Amino acid sequence: MSPPGGLYVHLPFCPYICPYCDFAKWPLARSRAARYLGALGFEIARAPQFSAGTLFLGGGTPNTLEPGQLTQVIENVRVRFAPAGFSEATIELNPDLELCSPEAFAAYRAAGIDRVSFGVQSFVAEELATLGRRHTAQDVGEAVRRARAAGLRNVSLDLIFGAPGQTADSWRRSLAGALALEPDHVSTYGLTIEDGTPFATWYARSPGDFLSTDTEAQLYGIAIDVLTAAGFEHYEISNFARPGKRCAHNANYWANGDYLGLGVGAASYLGGVRSVHVRDLEAYCGAAESGGPIPGDDERLEGPARLGEAAMLALRTAEGVDVAAFAERYRVDFHLFYKPVIAEMQALGTLDVTPARIRLTRRGRFVANDVCGAFVTFAG
Ligand code: SF4
Repeated sequence: MSPPGGLYVHLPFCPYICPYCDFAKWPLARSRAARYLGALGFEIARAPQFSAGTLFLGGGTPNTLEPGQLTQVIENVRVRFAPAGFSEATIELNPDLELCSPEAFAAYRAAGIDRVSFGVQSFVAEELATLGRRHTAQDVGEAVRRARAAGLRNVSLDLIFGAPGQTADSWRRSLAGALALEPDHVSTYGLTIEDGTPFATWYARSPGDFLSTDTEAQLYGIAIDVLTAAGFEHYEISNFARPGKRCAHNANYWANGDYLGLGVGAASYLGGVRSVHVRDLEAYCGAAESGGPIPGDDERLEGPARLGEAAMLALRTAEGVDVAAFAERYRVDFHLFYKPVIAEMQALGTLDVTPARIRLTRRGRFVANDVCGAFVTFAG
């Protein structure tokens, strides 16, 4: 029997749409949400057998749903996939106070949620406006206070760097704003310009409004320095945790563990097959309601492609590739198989190589996509 994996449930509704966002999301409409939750219920009932250790409710904005709707989803997946309960159950939250009532937090806690991840993005008013976010820095403080008062003590904050107009100084203010709330975990994501978003249109019109790659790298370096100095472990490229507070759900992704994704646009990785559901709400609901398969794509990762994926995921983490564990799981001598790419990356100063482990150096973390990509394309 395989070890418990991660269960992801996508809740795609938002109170408003942010101009940089490329997730599968739609503006909240009550009737649409009710239909979606019905379709999700059908999918939960018919999903393959799966033993879940962790739960992650993502979106979208899960807390734009009624607390009763959310707790019903949690109960349905617990009964079906984790009868003895989840070892970690996270919900993503928008810190807008209208969506963060004490009653809602109490309901999440009673339903088994034990970790909350707030999409803060910035503590600087001008940057929040640029990013199209409607909450304030004060809202975040009050939302965190309410969560803790309801017993939701494991708190993560998400921040974005690279917003137009951001400076090293304003980024330091956001990091200080986050640290002042004493979170257990902080994620910092570089802004990416996604095709088809209003930010892509803005970028096409006026690229000079956006930060250069060098400035973004500088901001990332500031995040590493500030957060590690405050006692956080930089345990994955974008993630920092107090000791013992790493996100177990995401750690399973990076360990190339199995996960089951439910809902529109959700991705799964089960028994070496990677699959993703269609990102079309109507197509998802129609298929789930009719009892047919959910449309989407799937791909069996075999041979070198599977190795490349595993290497790429492991390199994202602070521990990097454990050479002995890699040999045992994939029957491959990592040093031998990747000899040319290891040599090339080492010469560029991006890899720290020992007989037992291969890790990104600090320099490597700044160009992690290129380094990880080199392992994927070499193997593929
Ligand atoms: S960034 Fe979050 S809140 Fe904004 S549109 Fe995307 S999913 Fe919704």
